[in-house]
Amino acid sequence: MMQASLSEIFCSVQGEGPYVGYRQAFVRFTGCNLNCNYCDTPVEATEVCRFENVPGSNTFQDVANPLSPEKVSEMVNSYKALHSVSLTGGEPLLCADFISALETDAPLYLESNMTLPHMAKKVKDKVSYVSGDVKLLPHSLLDDPDLHLERTIECFRALKTTKDRDCFCKIVVTKETPADDIEGVVGAISGYISSLILQPVTQKEMQPEPGYLLELQGSLLNDVNTRIIPQTHKMWGCL
Ligand code: SF4
Repeated sequence: MMQASLSEIFCSVQGEGPYVGYRQAFVRFTGCNLNCNYCDTPVEATEVCRFENVPGSNTFQDVANPLSPEKVSEMVNSYKALHSVSLTGGEPLLCADFISALETDAPLYLESNMTLPHMAKKVKDKVSYVSGDVKLLPHSLLDDPDLHLERTIECFRALKTTKDRDCFCKIVVTKETPADDIEGVVGAISGYISSLILQPVTQKEMQPEPGYLLELQGSLLNDVNTRIIPQTHKMWGCL
């Protein structure tokens, strides 16, 4: 039977990117194929999935892992008035078959590091929103840069914006992120995305100068609709 280990399911609002403020259920998968140095998400498998019964209550019920798609759909569908269901992690595409079997009332919003193209193809007709969170070297540990870029392009090609799906790209920028690396990736995927979001890293000691980000945005706007949007949910203590 197809099952997945989740770390948490809760209801909140999207805190990043062009859908900031939209009400979502969050389904957080464990496990990731990368190891970014700014990662702030525990990705280890857990024995239980914590489930927030009442949105915003910050009180959780423990549900034993692993969970079936039917059980997760039932838990998510208990929340009302959702814009969408965020599949986040970790790397949700590691569980592409599980995602394909979900039956949620609200459409699916995939947050992926875009390095697993064979899995992306499995969910392309299932997801309505794609937040392609590109991880640039040296912030991740996929040690072949050419292979990393090739897989990234293939994922965006499989999940590109269509009339039924929005696909955008989000890049976390630190003071060490070279502009050339960002421009190289964006040049390769700009035809597949509706917008590019530059997200200054939340950790203060790693943040880029505002002038650097504005200069970068000015140059990228020649290729693609580029916005600078920091993480917002942590500003008001939201999950
Ligand atoms: S891809 Fe995301 S979850 Fe995985 S290590 Fe990087 S930041 Fe963490």
